Amino acid sequence: MPELPDVEVFRRRLDATSLRRRIVSVAILAPELVRDVSPRTLKARLTGRQFRSTRRHGKNLFAELSGGGALLLHFGMTGDLAYYHDGEEAPRHVRLRLDFPGGAHLAFDDQRKFGRIAYVENVETFIRNRRLGPDPLSPGFDLETFRGALRKKRGGLKAALLDQRMLAGIGNLYADEILFQSGLHPAIRIEALADRAVRALYRRTRHVLEKAVAAGVEFDRLPRTWLLRHRDTDRRCPRCGDPLARMTAGGRTTYYCSRDQRKGSANKKREER
Ligand SMILES: [Zn+2]
Repeated sequence: MPELPDVEVFRRRLDATSLRRRIVSVAILAPELVRDVSPRTLKARLTGRQFRSTRRHGKNLFAELSGGGALLLHFGMTGDLAYYHDGEEAPRHVRLRLDFPGGAHLAFDDQRKFGRIAYVENVETFIRNRRLGPDPLSPGFDLETFRGALRKKRGGLKAALLDQRMLAGIGNLYADEILFQSGLHPAIRIEALADRAVRALYRRTRHVLEKAVAAGVEFDRLPRTWLLRHRDTDRRCPRCGDPLARMTAGGRTTYYCSRDQRKGSANKKREER
């Protein structure tokens, strides 16, 4: 399921391939994924225009159009963004295709169809109306911003990390990774976090997301000391070797190490890696 790092990789792909090129035609192959505007209107807004820049907030990708407005893509469970030329293999589940001169295509591919396609007049207004929390990789995301986001929530930490109104962009896999690297139990209560734990959590949140983007979200390129390398393979803690524990938190299957991630470990000093 695409989370912040995946969507950031899609954004960079769009930047590298599709900016400032005339969209000569548009094919909407799954009109049911189009929100807030009619497919016909969306087509009219895109055809003949160019993308001048991109923005991402959490899991939302905005491709800003020359002349105003933006195409919004949300990747749901199985969304992907592909760029290809005529004669190359097209993705199998194309829901939206934009055609550029010279037989080049940008395609929103989404097998399970939980994604969303929309036209947004104003990106800031959209973010505000959706009450999305701050994006952890945005330049203004400092420790104070993080503290402010945490103060809005009570209860289990993992569930809070998944709440897009607290922080935008974190999903199940990266929430588990951030908690593991912070040494915090998924069910630890936010109110019980010591300031030292909040600071560790802030640093680990940025670190995990930045590293995942830098690795192009290819898990093989991530360090073996990460939980992500083990949760679907040997299911052992890369730190102590114990079998990983499993629980449900925030409604999602959660892996953690019951030795290294404790509810009472909020005050424990943990060395950075
Ligand atoms: Zn462990």
